[in-house]
Amino acid sequence: MQITSIKALLLKLPLDRPVASSVSRGARPLTSIMMPVVHVHTDVGLTGLGYAWCFSGGKAMVSLLEEDFAPALIGADPLDPERLWQELYWRFQGIGRHGLTIQAQSAIDLALWDLKGKACQQPVYKLLGGTRDRTPVYGSDGGWLNMSVDEVVCAAREYLDQGMRGIKLKVGHADPSIDVDRVRRIRELLGDDVWIAVDANQKWDFPTALRMGREFEQLGIAWYEEPMICEDVGGHARLSAALDVPIALGETLGSRFEIDAYLQADAVDIVQPDVTRVGGITEAVRIAALCEAAHRPVEPHLMMEASVHLACGLPGVDGLEYMPWLTSAFAEAPQLEDGHLVAPQSPGLGLEVAAHVIERHRIG
Ligand code: MG
Repeated sequence: MQITSIKALLLKLPLDRPVASSVSRGARPLTSIMMPVVHVHTDVGLTGLGYAWCFSGGKAMVSLLEEDFAPALIGADPLDPERLWQELYWRFQGIGRHGLTIQAQSAIDLALWDLKGKACQQPVYKLLGGTRDRTPVYGSDGGWLNMSVDEVVCAAREYLDQGMRGIKLKVGHADPSIDVDRVRRIRELLGDDVWIAVDANQKWDFPTALRMGREFEQLGIAWYEEPMICEDVGGHARLSAALDVPIALGETLGSRFEIDAYLQADAVDIVQPDVTRVGGITEAVRIAALCEAAHRPVEPHLMMEASVHLACGLPGVDGLEYMPWLTSAFAEAPQLEDGHLVAPQSPGLGLEVAAHVIERHRIG
């Protein structure tokens, strides 16, 4: 099989609700998300779908895909995703490794795995190992900083009523005492048995992160996500040693190398790679193996429609984050049943971008 052409496009999708996290740094809540989409066409009539996501840089990613990656890949056998991963990683290493280049490469890698599944007539999770056919999820789109405590509790109850394992709350207000007060009130309203994680999106310095971690421990928090800037491996190691609450992070790391630095330093307890930021499924498989050897569970970040294949195909991937940001783009998305996301049974990723979505939301 040979790759004959690569076409990319950019969608701008409206979000169900405006969202603000500590990353927003006081800016207005976001109301839309960009989704670079790539189709890899072959000489046997099969087409692979890949995608990524971003709030900015979408046009640059589309340009990389069409202007730089496509010439490097046309004529290659798409059933060699590892060889093509190495080819792209090293050819573009001067502008890559972390950020939008590896995100665009992730989209290509997803498309190659989609093609491999279609060629084998198997869903990707089966190619990866087929550990189960569904995965638990927690509700993650109902705890934004711009929501009131009542709104958060209302959204949480909807998730819990659907059988989800728990919820995640954003923290990271300019005044940290607001976070303590909000989390305490939400804990009181939902009860002591409810699984609650918190996510600071890299907001705090070490002293604040330590102080807040101790508060969250008192409130029975399941994990403490991205307390500090993602480059601070040593700081997270010190924090992890000082706190009992598990430290979760990984969404802003760009490859197995960056994640391995955290594992080596004993600076993370729960690892959260984003399959569209670390280099796609090929790299996510390596990350899952590293984490398994380090006895650290993997909880993929966002991208549940693709990551369901990781969670159902690999050992050590405990669950997914239910965040339906891209769900409306797909003609058929994985179904939620009793708080579990069910792996698609159709070949490949089991995803196609709906034609009417392209017609309505394409911006590039
Ligand atoms: Mg997060």
